[in-house]
Amino acid sequence: MTPTQALQKYFGYSEFRHEQEAIINTVLSGGDVMALMPTGGGKSLCYQLPAVLLEGLTIVISPLIALMKDQVDALNLAGIPAAFLNSSQSTGEQNEIIAKLNKNHIKLLYLAPERLFGSGSKLVDFLRSLPVPVSQIAIDEAHCISHWGHDFRPEYLMLAGLKDHFPNIPVIALTATADKQTRQDILDKLDLKSPAIFVSSFNRANITYRVNPKRNSFDQLLDFLNERKDESGIIYCLSRKSTESLADSLRARGYAADAYHAGLDNGTKAKNQEAFLRDEVKIMVATVAFGMGINKSNVRYVVHMDLPKNIEGYYQETGRAGRDGLASSALLFYSPGDVIKLKGFVAVEGDAEQTQIMLQKLDDMARYAALPTCRRKYLLNYFDEPAPDHCGNCDICLSEITKFDGTLIAQKALSAVSRLKERFGAGYVIDFLRGSKNEKIRPEHKELKTYGVGANVSKADWQRYLRELAALGYLQFSDGEYPVLQLTAKSEAVLKGQEKVELIATQTIETLATEELPFENELLERLKTVRRDIAVLENVPAYLILSDVALIEMATYLPQNLNELRLISGFGDVKLARYGREFLLPITTYTAEHGLSSKINLKGHKRERKPKTEKPATSRSADTKRDSLLLFRQNKSIADIAAERGLSVTTIESHLAHFVALGELDVLAMVPEVKIPAIKDAVESYGAERLAPLKEVLGADYSYGEIKAVLAWMNRNE
Ligand code: ADP
Ligand code: ZN
Repeated sequence: MTPTQALQKYFGYSEFRHEQEAIINTVLSGGDVMALMPTGGGKSLCYQLPAVLLEGLTIVISPLIALMKDQVDALNLAGIPAAFLNSSQSTGEQNEIIAKLNKNHIKLLYLAPERLFGSGSKLVDFLRSLPVPVSQIAIDEAHCISHWGHDFRPEYLMLAGLKDHFPNIPVIALTATADKQTRQDILDKLDLKSPAIFVSSFNRANITYRVNPKRNSFDQLLDFLNERKDESGIIYCLSRKSTESLADSLRARGYAADAYHAGLDNGTKAKNQEAFLRDEVKIMVATVAFGMGINKSNVRYVVHMDLPKNIEGYYQETGRAGRDGLASSALLFYSPGDVIKLKGFVAVEGDAEQTQIMLQKLDDMARYAALPTCRRKYLLNYFDEPAPDHCGNCDICLSEITKFDGTLIAQKALSAVSRLKERFGAGYVIDFLRGSKNEKIRPEHKELKTYGVGANVSKADWQRYLRELAALGYLQFSDGEYPVLQLTAKSEAVLKGQEKVELIATQTIETLATEELPFENELLERLKTVRRDIAVLENVPAYLILSDVALIEMATYLPQNLNELRLISGFGDVKLARYGREFLLPITTYTAEHGLSSKINLKGHKRERKPKTEKPATSRSADTKRDSLLLFRQNKSIADIAAERGLSVTTIESHLAHFVALGELDVLAMVPEVKIPAIKDAVESYGAERLAPLKEVLGADYSYGEIKAVLAWMNRNE
């Protein structure tokens, strides 16, 4: 079996990520490897896949029991025999595993370093005497061996003797966080033999980084959570006490939140962690004690209420969001006071040198929080990786690159308000600015010089600009049921050209929208129920059965039989055989109910999403849009047109929206009239730069297609 075949058969994935393939080939040919990959990058696969292909046993060194259990459960669900040995097990359980090892019935054995090399342990001798020899040793979280790292664990130093005990067995050291010094230290301490070093990009493109000033942080947090009501997230606090009080406050607001810190007894910790993994608790409020070994793939956000002690920790913690590759958020509340508070915490007693290292790291962390430039660039550069100046997906980039000199626009708006004697609402002012022929506009107003000076700006943009001007204090809305626009004390300077105004530019909607997968929401909910039921039966967290990505793919491509289901990410042979039929049933039922059919032929091989590069519009693309319109006019559904043309539903929706904007297609052909006010409302309050937040506030009843159509309609040229 080739590695690619094994990838499909055991893990249900069709392609390798990052450097996985090269790493795996090196291990298979007997070489030592050090692999650096970001959290969520897919490190485990780098030794799990060789483990299935190699003859003998793979030993995996891992620092935490929770981590081992999760991985072992995941492997067993995929039909790969794996086990761990640790102090939590009874002698009986341990003996059972020993017996299986003797029969070569286990492919991966997870161990803590002290279990392998601790004084009095006979395990090394036993493992060396196995009838089929050990064939690979994997060191997870390898940075724990270095005191230069942020998470030094003295017991990892025991691994220094590894090569003496197992001289000819390939060793693969893996870590998500290691600066240059730490990397060298790992190589030296483990004594790797001419190791191949693989450094993947540390960029986690699906995570949006934000830092907010730490003022009214609880209220800010509530706003943030309000937009993410059904999502899972982790909120990190510095102190144990604050985790508990914050969890209480959130519960009082109706959120399913729990606390986790090292001071809780083991039973409570295990119970709370389990509830989080099983989605019974949506929000875990925790100290940094929580998270290592949490492979939950659908964590949608990570919030830091306090400054972390170093970039390594921060990056690892934020990296717990979005392992499934879907868009996720990292939010940090920062106050310079935190730095002073933390100085005491990072000091290592009796070790001036180590204290110095940790203070330097704290300093780097504080610099990040106060950064005036792209956060992602800083993070990547910290890990010695080059990065462009703007990432477009951090708070700095999102606000910075889109600013432009809006003085002229502001002057037009303010003078319109002034000419209209501060007696009209935003709708009227915009129609007036755009020179609308509408009879609503009074004839005497059509005579004014300002009438029509803003015709080149779309309605939706004017709405945003007026809101922004109000936020900047150049305009104000009167109180009352029908607010009218009024000037402020700051208006005059702008009108006289004495003050410049910066506004945020619109981004094109299409580039962002095409990346969204359109899926059947109701079906997704049914699939989640199936997954939950299976998870309860198997007594494991739901995400170990299948990831959210797999469910979304099913709800998108509507596979109709086992062969089609095999193409869904995460369905290896064993999962297909065990759970395939259970997932197929709701899909076939749903498609029959709704007159839909399989769209699996639209599924490209490549699952990893790429940022879409916009091609310039050509006449060909005008034709392709029109082709979609023609089919739509023949009363075909958008899904059918997509299937017929071999394009995605999103693309067809964009085609049709284009004609709504041109006024050639009635918006009501794409959206029921009753839905329009709510969509308009959302656009007016949240802006039109990004569709995902709009979808989020509108909820499951509103599709991306409908939102897009209304946006196009609001932008239409009259
Ligand atoms: P890490 O240990 O680097 O933090 P994991 O090994 O937990 O990351 O992998 C993160 C997620 O990505 C897991 O859900 C894993 O199944 C998935 N994954 C790994 N490799 C691939 C791949 N080649 N294609 C699709 N998904 C993958
Ligand atoms: Zn950026």
